[in-house]
Amino acid sequence: MVPIKESCVDVLIIGAGPAGLMMAAWMAKCGINTRIIDKRGTKVFNGQADGLQCRTLEIMESLGFGHRAWRESNHMLEVCMWNPDEAGILRRSDRIADTLPGLSRFQQAVLHQGRIERFFLDEIEDCSGIRVERGVMPTSLNIDEEAVEDQHAYPITVILRHLTEEEATPNQTATVADGQSVRNGIYRSNLAKDDTDDLLATSKLNEKANTEEIVHAKYMLGADGAHSWTRKQIGLSLEGESTDYIWGVLDIVPITDFPDIRMRCAIHSANSGSVMIIPRENKLVRVYVQLTTTQKIGDEAGGRADRSKVSPEVIIGEAQKILAPYKISYKKLDWWTAYQIGQRVGTEFSVHERVFLAGDAVHTHSPKAGQGMNVSMQDTFNLGWKIASVLKGQANRSILKTYQSERRKVAQDLIAFDHKFSRLFSGRPAKGDADAEGVKMTDFKDAFTKGNLFVSGTNVDYGASTIVAKAGDASVQGDGTDVLVGDEKNRLISNQELAPGLVVGKRIPSVKILSQADARPWHLQELLPSNGRWRVLVFPGDVQSQAQAAQLIDVANSFDASNSFVYCFTPAGGPIDAVFEIFAIHRAPRTAVTIFDFPSIFRRFSETDGYDYDKIYVDDISYHEGHGKIYEEFGIAEHGCIVVVRPDQHVSYIGSLSEPAAVTQFFSAFMVPQME
Ligand code: FAD
Repeated sequence: MVPIKESCVDVLIIGAGPAGLMMAAWMAKCGINTRIIDKRGTKVFNGQADGLQCRTLEIMESLGFGHRAWRESNHMLEVCMWNPDEAGILRRSDRIADTLPGLSRFQQAVLHQGRIERFFLDEIEDCSGIRVERGVMPTSLNIDEEAVEDQHAYPITVILRHLTEEEATPNQTATVADGQSVRNGIYRSNLAKDDTDDLLATSKLNEKANTEEIVHAKYMLGADGAHSWTRKQIGLSLEGESTDYIWGVLDIVPITDFPDIRMRCAIHSANSGSVMIIPRENKLVRVYVQLTTTQKIGDEAGGRADRSKVSPEVIIGEAQKILAPYKISYKKLDWWTAYQIGQRVGTEFSVHERVFLAGDAVHTHSPKAGQGMNVSMQDTFNLGWKIASVLKGQANRSILKTYQSERRKVAQDLIAFDHKFSRLFSGRPAKGDADAEGVKMTDFKDAFTKGNLFVSGTNVDYGASTIVAKAGDASVQGDGTDVLVGDEKNRLISNQELAPGLVVGKRIPSVKILSQADARPWHLQELLPSNGRWRVLVFPGDVQSQAQAAQLIDVANSFDASNSFVYCFTPAGGPIDAVFEIFAIHRAPRTAVTIFDFPSIFRRFSETDGYDYDKIYVDDISYHEGHGKIYEEFGIAEHGCIVVVRPDQHVSYIGSLSEPAAVTQFFSAFMVPQME
């Protein structure tokens, strides 16, 4: 008998959907020893999620492939609302901007999940060589509870089974009416029974050598979707309600006389239900139709619907009724699916801060706000850098508690939003003011407009903790989670008034600034790529003023001292900016100063490479791209300020130039000293 293979890995990721791939991307960028497995033999090729919110595009840009998504996607600029008029005739009742103007340098766009997964796979492989191991699934999970607090231990033991190609590739095509063979998403949908147990049972019959292996891991992520095997193993559950709403989804090239087919549309018919139109890449249009239980495609309330009753014909039939008198049909069908919505959120997002859950494994909701893929990726965008910095011995394990306190709150807010929005979207339009049971279209528009800010992802505001220095009780978060990490009495609180346009806890907005060295305009976020580093942005104001120049020298001396955060928490022998990058963004006229008017910490010199020209920026007008006015945008007055930004671009701390030592105090609460 061949002995069973046994190995160790720092991070084991179960599931290579958007959440798992985002985690793998962080691990790749931070150089962490990682394996990512998926039970399926292939990635998604078409269909499934498609909405990309502004924040997701910003994140993708920070990972190096946002431009691919931006170029290939369909950009959605306007939402049109169609409702029955007093005579019951469908009319366009309103138009609003799809993304609130000024929110981000990106606007909401759509591109199918398969392309997004492709961009991730390319980037991950290019920078690390990590590849998704397909046709592999876990069969058992064991956690050594005695070892969970030991930094060097591998407390997680997982047995992995390798499937045959046949087992890993379920049939996902369906032949539809006109003979086209079209991929459908039913096999991944929650209307289909999960096949994990069946796969585990049938794959036992393969008695090939080496079909199983033992893996010991320091950390594990269950990004294995709504049916999450990992969640069941660690005994966690989702709380919330299952709705009777069943949604049919068609990706078609429509043949229609409906005038707004290339706009995002929310359409309420008088009596036939609602439809959402999402214009997509390559002339495709996604049609989301709510299939009502009266069509007898649903089961008992709360039960699983009979999926054999759902077909592309049923879905387009519903769309035709809702859109009448306009006509809609198709010759080209790219993909279709149907699924039933549950609005649920996990009670816990991890056990022992060793095994974590992310994405659909910890929250499920309707697709209407286009949040599934976005929030799932943003979960692991929050978690990845934290695990990487703990594994590298830079940060204390205590910061891992902030994953749950930060992301569970987002999931809860999303479920609350979805709950309200779903009902407004699915309800029958009110027939006049006296119709209390109907949905008032003014309420719907209001919810839609407010919802646009929420769903953009740019408004996520993380609560107080040791890594978010703001007022508030850091020991208890909004969701009741105990997140005390560090010494609450000595916890640093930001001076938010120094930069009211920046919110401690939110992602830093992007504004254009110019390189002092060569006058090139840059978006601030372009200077903050996702590589695990913290950024300290020093805003000295006008450095032509003697007082401001003197303050800048004090800040630089403090940061350059041997007891500063830079020297205490950066591993000796490596690059000085391996953990922290320090930037100066001033507001003197660009041509009135040179880089040599700035302390050397902002233009470090190397014998081989000369000066660093990439750390000094100016708030001034560019030749070709206007004036970003960052001081005005962020509300920074002439006395300036210091801003600390996390590796995921969220603002951690805002403080005065006159208290530079506070930055060391901030980092001392959770960073691990690197030198005696
Ligand atoms: P998933 O994308 O589900 O990825 C989980 C991965 O884990 C899969 O690759 C799976 O093969 C793998 N896996 C599962 N179990 C195991 C196991 N035991 N071992 C190993 N691997 C495992 N969202 C929208 O915003 N718009 C939409 O139109 C939309 N349509 C959807 C249609 C369908 C049919 C489905 C299922 C979802 C849809 N969603 C939509 C939701 C969106 O796809 C998800 O929110 C998003 O994919 C969640 O990402 P995830 O990585 O958490 O999970």
